Amino acid sequence: MRLSVEKLKRRAAAARGALDACELCGHRCRADRRAGELGRCGCGPTAEVATALLHPGEEPALGPRPGTLFFSRCNLACVYCQNWQISQAGRGDRMTTAELADAMLRLRDDGASNIELVSPTPWVPQIIDALAQAAEQGLDLPVVYNTGGYEHLDALHLLDGVVDVYLPDMRYSRPEPAERYSGARDYPAVNRTAVLEMHRQIGDLVFDGSGRAVRGLLIRLLPLPDRLAGVRESLRWIADELSVETWFSLMAQYGPAHRAAEYPELDRPITATEYEKLRDTADGLGFLNFYAQTPESRDVLRPDFAHERPFATRKDDATR
Ligand code: SF4
Repeated sequence: MRLSVEKLKRRAAAARGALDACELCGHRCRADRRAGELGRCGCGPTAEVATALLHPGEEPALGPRPGTLFFSRCNLACVYCQNWQISQAGRGDRMTTAELADAMLRLRDDGASNIELVSPTPWVPQIIDALAQAAEQGLDLPVVYNTGGYEHLDALHLLDGVVDVYLPDMRYSRPEPAERYSGARDYPAVNRTAVLEMHRQIGDLVFDGSGRAVRGLLIRLLPLPDRLAGVRESLRWIADELSVETWFSLMAQYGPAHRAAEYPELDRPITATEYEKLRDTADGLGFLNFYAQTPESRDVLRPDFAHERPFATRKDDATR
């Protein structure tokens, strides 16, 4: 957090108003959430959280012990979501912003490397309020914003100076699969606008002496079967619009979950060949910094978040 406590408090007050006609995400459904109306995402006035815990196994840049808050509900409705019980069935408990601040401080006391916010988009106002309260009580860890990447610019402007590391997905590069599998036809345009704004705010990833990211952008790319995510096109876009110095994770973990079996084209894991072709594309485009997963990553994935994701950097791989 680069804002002072006083500025955070003022930002929190401004952010609360965003709940009156919510346009925090690309759906822009204008629900009056402070009056109790639920948005298309199912979110109302009070934050809902599934769990708060130390969560090792993320990319090494996030440090050995991200202090992770998994928020309930989501503004995307991905048919293959591995965490659908939380994101779509709404598993979790309501928490006031004071309780959220307490949870953040407990994670710090337990030795968290940072505060990682997962599926935070609908809860941006509540999160800023909680961060202001936690900062007043001494919280000074980097804030990591782990998102599906379907933010409207209004949400990102509220987060300017609050978030230290943006960790957005780039899930699709074409409207048709975005609509069919996540209910957001304009995802590619909204997502690319959001990623540009994130990069404008914090630039490329910057590390401290221990290799922990303290600031910057780290993009996640999840290949789906049959090139449905358009990862190759996303890589080209990143190279052209940002740079080949941009950090990203090429995830290998897709496997059919939730309702994926209803879509025959999604009803299989990606193959090693599909994955390796994308790695070759990244190499061919000249990317300098990316994390790749081993094929075994998929085997250790468990749908309750207690998963490990062994990552290797491109440099590490060169020695194999
Ligand atoms: S975050 Fe939820 S309530 Fe707000 S615009 Fe998006 S879907 Fe609607």
